[in-house]
Amino acid sequence: MFSIGRIVTVLAVPFLLSSSSTTGEIMDKIVPISRSFKQMLSDVREQRITPDSAQRQFVVISGLLKSNFPADSAQCQADTVMVFPLRGFSKRAIGGNGSAVGFRPKGFNLFDNSVRGSHPAHDLFIHDMNDDSRDDYTQKPVDVLAITNGVVVATETNWDTLSVFRGGNYVWLYDPCRQGLFYFAHNQVVSVQQGELVRAGDKLGEVGRTGFNARRKRSHTHLHLMYLQIQPDGLPVPKNTFDWLIKARPAPND
Ligand SMILES: [Zn+2]
Repeated sequence: MFSIGRIVTVLAVPFLLSSSSTTGEIMDKIVPISRSFKQMLSDVREQRITPDSAQRQFVVISGLLKSNFPADSAQCQADTVMVFPLRGFSKRAIGGNGSAVGFRPKGFNLFDNSVRGSHPAHDLFIHDMNDDSRDDYTQKPVDVLAITNGVVVATETNWDTLSVFRGGNYVWLYDPCRQGLFYFAHNQVVSVQQGELVRAGDKLGEVGRTGFNARRKRSHTHLHLMYLQIQPDGLPVPKNTFDWLIKARPAPND
């Protein structure tokens, strides 16, 4: 069984200069991080580990993300524009009629699956009255886009309708400039793989209804977008992305 103690820190390459590092080098870094992160998430979900233990594992994982994917500060200053994460949509897609009310962080604990009721995220809705995960106007799937530059840390592509797992098919993206993790959940299609470097506006997948609650009739088709800010102690705190979303540049349909 994989042990987190076996993760090897390899030479750091400034993230946005990483065109000089090969895909193989990036994969060497990301694969053990991704494996231990996904293992931790599933151990929490199945309540196989204590919240304390999960927390300790996360601190190791976030430390490895920071050391292996350091920010290039000049590049970070130049690249401040964010892209609205649904192609063809803008701030009006934000749940609660484009307001900030969807974000309810109280009680959230990434490491304790027994705690429920919080929603440290925004839901971004498409027009899909017949629940076919296609936009009613264009009759096409809606692309989920990277909101910032980053590295794909983990994906799930094997969700099935029997699963009680709530996130469905997801993408976790690490943003080296902000030192935080974006989580894009409920996708119908995931188009990226762990280790891929993406730019703001790149396609990550397509909006869907995967996830235990998201697939139910009462749920309207949406992207669940969460951002976890990694603190100096290595632990994650959910941040309200509302201001980022309303300022983000919309990406038009082709
Ligand atoms: Zn949500």
